Amino acid sequence: MIIVLFGPPGSGKGTQAKLLAERYGVPHISTGDILRENIKNETELGLKAKTYMDKGELVPDDVLIGLIKDRLSQSDGASGFLLDGYPRTLPQAETLSKILSELGKSLDVVLNIDVPAEKLLNRLAGRRMCVCGASYHISFNKPKQAGICDLCGSKLYHRDDDKEEAIMNRLDVYKNQTQPLIDHYTQAGVMLTINGAADIVVVFNEICRMLDDFGHV
Ligand code: ADP
Ligand code: ADP
Ligand code: ZN
Repeated sequence: MIIVLFGPPGSGKGTQAKLLAERYGVPHISTGDILRENIKNETELGLKAKTYMDKGELVPDDVLIGLIKDRLSQSDGASGFLLDGYPRTLPQAETLSKILSELGKSLDVVLNIDVPAEKLLNRLAGRRMCVCGASYHISFNKPKQAGICDLCGSKLYHRDDDKEEAIMNRLDVYKNQTQPLIDHYTQAGVMLTINGAADIVVVFNEICRMLDDFGHV
């Protein structure tokens, strides 16, 4: 099953995707994680993306298109995947549908994680990330040992774009460029909206219940 995790920055896409990937045994494909990995490795793509990401702006499509095409074509996604952070614009939704149809696949569900805007700043400002892609929160999802990843033992870091100015910009970008996709996917009949304001496990159980009702992943 091919699932897109959709929602504003801080809604819990990455958190839920990690849990869902484990439960259903499908890969979690996050464009943000792939871009950060490229920045860490100082690739050409990473260098191009960094200036946009630090400011909280979208990375241009021509930088992303090769990356997304390659990743979705890999064999680990043969029986499905969880796509987190893509698409974020209408042209990206069109690109995705084209790539999937070239692969003989189609999108099954877009999970819209709905969280009131006033909660997002706090979630993002308190987020702590690990290089392995795990994310924590200083109040809502603390690691067992402060500042250290439960999964791999690495030191957690505060993303540059999780500081207030970039957060405000990202929330604007979401509102102007990404939110319109809700109508697009609702009209396509693939949208499922989840209340993402509850605790992490409550949201996870609700998503699993909806997916199990919907069909097998
Ligand atoms: P996204 O990938 O949508 O930007 P994340 O999954 O990284 O969001 O979550 C953003 C921050 O909020 C993280 O610090 C995470 O631990 C925390 N978080 C995620 N889901 C919840 C929730 N249901 N309640 C409280 N905090 C949450
Ligand atoms: P969050 O879930 O907190 O919004 P992500 O890790 O998904 O953050 O994305 C971080 C940044 O990476 C975005 O602000 C943007 O600069 C870039 N990015 C990720 N996915 C895309 C995309 N589909 N299109 C353009 N830029 C992207
Ligand atoms: Zn880790």
